[in-house]
Amino acid sequence: MLALSLLIFVLIQAVHHFGPRASEWVQRAWPAIAIAVLSLSIRFLGAHLPGVIPRIVPVALLAATLLALPFYAVAAKAIRVFTLAATPCLAITFLAPLFYLSGPSPLPPDPPLAARLSGSPPVRVIRMVFDDWDQRLTFGDPDGGPGIETGLASMPALQLLGTSSFAASRALAAQAGSTPVYDMSTLAAIPSLIYGKDAIGYSTESPAVRHLVFAGRSSESVVFGSGDSIFSRVRSLGWNATIAGWHLPYCRIFAPQVTDCFWDERFDQASAASRQQLNAAADETRMLFESDMYSPFGRSLVVERHYEEYETLLAAARRYAADPDIGVAFIHLNVPHMPWFDNPGLSTLLRRQSSDDHYLHALPWVDRAIAAVVSSLGASGLDAKTAIILSSDHPARLISKTTPYVPFIVHLPNQTEPVTMNEEFSALQSADLVLAIARGEIQSPEDIAKFLLHRE
Ligand SMILES: [Zn+2]
Repeated sequence: MLALSLLIFVLIQAVHHFGPRASEWVQRAWPAIAIAVLSLSIRFLGAHLPGVIPRIVPVALLAATLLALPFYAVAAKAIRVFTLAATPCLAITFLAPLFYLSGPSPLPPDPPLAARLSGSPPVRVIRMVFDDWDQRLTFGDPDGGPGIETGLASMPALQLLGTSSFAASRALAAQAGSTPVYDMSTLAAIPSLIYGKDAIGYSTESPAVRHLVFAGRSSESVVFGSGDSIFSRVRSLGWNATIAGWHLPYCRIFAPQVTDCFWDERFDQASAASRQQLNAAADETRMLFESDMYSPFGRSLVVERHYEEYETLLAAARRYAADPDIGVAFIHLNVPHMPWFDNPGLSTLLRRQSSDDHYLHALPWVDRAIAAVVSSLGASGLDAKTAIILSSDHPARLISKTTPYVPFIVHLPNQTEPVTMNEEFSALQSADLVLAIARGEIQSPEDIAKFLLHRE
């Protein structure tokens, strides 16, 4: 965006300078070209901030481009006045990184972790939540729509695990009862999954205290972290729970209930700069020339941060899987959520929505995490007493067709056959399911179906 603005600015100044000596057609064409480049950058902004640019703006710019051809002298004058007036904006843009050097106020520290307990459940559970993982684009349309390209073909570890797992085709996302797919959010869906109740509202009191309000007639409210979360339930049974996640300050909230914890923030253009001051100024300046989708420098800084975070989450997942003292591990991965690791190229700059294609390219990163956990369990010999639950907080939202369904796959220890269930149920039940599996109450895939459908 800034690069385009600079291009316009340089173009205008150059033509102004050399204008009188330039050929007549250059003098006639440059105002129209300048306005066309401006509309291009506005289009780019609109593609990244849907709803911000009123529809009339591109139409007006197109009209201005056409009018600038016959009335080039007037247009040239207007553009020069406009660019001179905008010059202070350029100065502000380049001085802003220095202003940010003052740095944000420090966040509250994570409290100390809980001491390890000696007990362990009959069945260990690795619960993996892949952010933004979509049922339809991974496995096909649950309602049997026309054939679509899905990600499963590029996910060998998932295919292999699927041959010995329970899989549901109509698992409703945690917020499906209260929220349209487009409005589903990680910040509401993850607490819902942790408590097994739809968190329909939240209010933030301080960086360390957030109140959740659950759906239901009583509108029950808790401070996030207190009450019957999956972690407090595991701990009260005398077993060790652990967390690795992103986007939510997990350890600030749950450290006293878990024995290992890792979390990091969701990196975007506001949070990806280094903490060290001089590096921060360089990063802020660099990010003026890139977006979270595209960068002329290869991977954009936001994508680099997202990728490092993925690798750290994966390392934690491997470690938890291989640690026999851990009873329940909750792993919230930052894939296939945007930004995507593979720079999708200039073509996406002008697209209003992320296409299904780019989403499909992100799914192998989900598969890599599944493969990592499966191999870690195999290498440590813990696969015979560990269940794996794979699902998501919400379906993909910025794709061609949304459905309320998330993947829901459960592999029980020593399970050898695939079982599929097509009935609808809520993924909110996964919190209770984790506990039931850990207690050894779920012996077979058929037990999972009975549990989810409340049948005896
Ligand atoms: Zn999410």
